[in-house]
Amino acid sequence: MKYINSPIDTINFKNHQVFIKRDDLLDKYFLGNKARKFYYFLNYDFNGIKKIISFGSPQANSLYSLSVLAKIKNVKLDFYVSHIATFLKQNPHGNYKEALKNGANIIELNQNEISTQEYVEENILKNEEHYIYIEEGGRVKEAESGIKILADEIMNWAKDNDENNLKIFLPSGTGTTALFLQKHLDMEVLTCACVGDEAYLKKQFFQLNSDESKHPTILKNKKKYHFGKLYKEFYDIHLELLDETQIEFDLLYDSLGWLNLISSKYFTQNKILYIHQGGILGNESMIKRYENKYL
Ligand SMILES: *Cc1c(COP(=O)(O)O)cnc(C)c1O
Repeated sequence: MKYINSPIDTINFKNHQVFIKRDDLLDKYFLGNKARKFYYFLNYDFNGIKKIISFGSPQANSLYSLSVLAKIKNVKLDFYVSHIATFLKQNPHGNYKEALKNGANIIELNQNEISTQEYVEENILKNEEHYIYIEEGGRVKEAESGIKILADEIMNWAKDNDENNLKIFLPSGTGTTALFLQKHLDMEVLTCACVGDEAYLKKQFFQLNSDESKHPTILKNKKKYHFGKLYKEFYDIHLELLDETQIEFDLLYDSLGWLNLISSKYFTQNKILYIHQGGILGNESMIKRYENKYL
């Protein structure tokens, strides 16, 4: 499999020009944010390794990306989840469905005593051998090499196109991507908190780098949002983006990302390069939920 530079598109949204780094088009199967974070494992020597063990949500983008990785590397994937909703089991869709198609073993623990991570680390790993264990969403140090490649692609593009006043924007979950991007980029990285609040994101940054001067800039959200919940304005901006740019953005991170960006001063005062981090497979079920609620 070849891993190529993702394209950068120029779009107009609300009468402003924005550049879009299309990591959603990175590859047909191994794409988006999680492909960058798991890039390290793509080059990793799996000789003697029989399976990848990980855990998280049965709808997670990381589940799908790990299932692709396991397939490429010809190993099994055991992915532990705390619970799978009956509806999802009976109507597989999105990341869950595609991961199953790739042969993932999605294992439901159905226990509430301890966290899924603790359960896996204390009860599963000791009975396994010839595996590599990847923590939820991709462990920190391994994520850096793939994100550095993304940073290099952006730096080269900016140089070739004489774009020396760029600001980079991307919405954050754990903040790992934004932090390592800022580490390897000369331009300022702007982000917003989609999981937890700004204080949580700041804490995550400190865990990865104690030097605050190297942290991305967190733009405050106008309102408190809970990850995975439905908000009319998320759906509206998703449709507006689709209509104006013909690009489908993710409903969990990008809708909040764009709402945050357009209400900031940077949107009108700076040239922005927005990173499209994929996640589209998860949209199908979100759109159904939105249609049920608002149509
Ligand atoms: C995982 C993910 C993010 C968040 O990435 P972090 O490195 O955890 O901040 C953002 N967008 C999409 C589509 C993702 O899959």
